[in-house]
Amino acid sequence: MKYKTIIEPFRIKTVEPIRQTTEAERAAAIDAAHYNVFLLRGEDVLIDLLTDSGTGAMSVYQWAGMMKGDETYAGARSYYAFEQAVHDITGFRHVIPTHQGRAAEHILTGAMLKPGDIVPNNRHFDTTRANVEHRGATALDLPIAEGHDPQTLHPFKGNMDLDALERVLRDNPGKVPLVMITVTNNSGGGQPVSMENIRGASAIARRYGVPFYLDACRFAENSWFVHTREPGYADRTPIEIARAMFALADGCTMSAKKDGMANIGGFLAMNDDAVAQRCRNTLILTEGFPTYGGLAGYDLEAIAVGLYEALDPDYLRYRIRMVEYMAEKMATAGIPTVRPAGGHALYLDAKRWLPHIPASEFPGWALSLVLYLEGGIRAAEIGSVMFGQQPDGTERPADLELVRLAFPRRVYTQSHMDYVCEVLMHVNTLASRIRGVRIIEQPAALRHFTAKFAPLVPGVIA
Ligand SMILES: *Cc1c(COP(=O)(O)O)cnc(C)c1O
Repeated sequence: MKYKTIIEPFRIKTVEPIRQTTEAERAAAIDAAHYNVFLLRGEDVLIDLLTDSGTGAMSVYQWAGMMKGDETYAGARSYYAFEQAVHDITGFRHVIPTHQGRAAEHILTGAMLKPGDIVPNNRHFDTTRANVEHRGATALDLPIAEGHDPQTLHPFKGNMDLDALERVLRDNPGKVPLVMITVTNNSGGGQPVSMENIRGASAIARRYGVPFYLDACRFAENSWFVHTREPGYADRTPIEIARAMFALADGCTMSAKKDGMANIGGFLAMNDDAVAQRCRNTLILTEGFPTYGGLAGYDLEAIAVGLYEALDPDYLRYRIRMVEYMAEKMATAGIPTVRPAGGHALYLDAKRWLPHIPASEFPGWALSLVLYLEGGIRAAEIGSVMFGQQPDGTERPADLELVRLAFPRRVYTQSHMDYVCEVLMHVNTLASRIRGVRIIEQPAALRHFTAKFAPLVPGVIA
């Protein structure tokens, strides 16, 4: 490349205004939201980095596809367009649409698991874990050692520990009905998995006669990391890498709200005829007829186009570079983040940044409040609020106290990102003054979504 600047590979045709607020307005809004950013109104947020799921901007080609949406109940043209796209990229024989990723997980786990089973994964995403456990099975995470430490640099920190996988299969004959790998590894910081690792896991699973599935939500981002980091793939395009990766698996679950570039949707795909039959039977009960599966015809069209757009090298270069750019700016400013940068989000390390706040006073949560108060930025705590609550009602501090800034696809420009960096650098000057929070009301599980908080020092966050 002759020029160093990587630009947004699109121009903007429709704009959605975002609203500046004053500090006083934000202070009132967060107080009304019980110091929980999930309870804010979206309109009161300036830059919303809560999640990259379903929050992306669609292209003119996706919108044009939506106008062609065929709402025929059975056998709609839009289904065949969708099926063709998924089949072309994944190669799987059976393509089953669902309303989002967790519905695909729910159906697959219902078709394949029984109580007492074990499902190994590099790291289960929370909905995958919940679906496995819902069937009475154990969701076993097998990350490589480097995956435990936010500071170690490893090009494929999302990899699975293959020796551990082999041990689990050897020691539990008949109890492992499914092996999964999540690309990229969302719960582990959006870190990629190498083709070598996927190939190894696939070979081990096949040796034990166990089906191997991918949680493929960010398959395109993972393909880009393979293209840029793994020896032997520099000449392969992202779509070629994606096809080679899917060829190693027996099936996949997918949330089209991520690398499907759509606002809703998902699918389940596999080669096994009998499993597909069982899944379609459940689908009819819970989602809909097999040619729409809980989606409108126009949603299927948007996904059919979006899957290819997610694999466009210009788009992927820009997307991955944006996260890296943010991480570099943080490193220069001395703000601790999880390293190396992941594919869809920047993870601030609140434990290292705010060492004066103990886990019991929720440093990540406090930081998420400061980001909102100081800059109108919304981010998600991934720490002791999210993971500290045990099923028996006790508290156990999380391993890591992170704040995730997830980037919606094609939504924000570089100046938005520069603004976010400037706010973070300002927050850095306040860091030692940031105070913790306490919980004043919480539900029995998944408390981060709805719990009510208060500053430890009334009215004082920083
Ligand atoms: C988002 C996500 C899911 C679940 O998909 P939904 O569409 O949110 O139901 C599953 N696995 C991973 C890795 C995800 O990121």
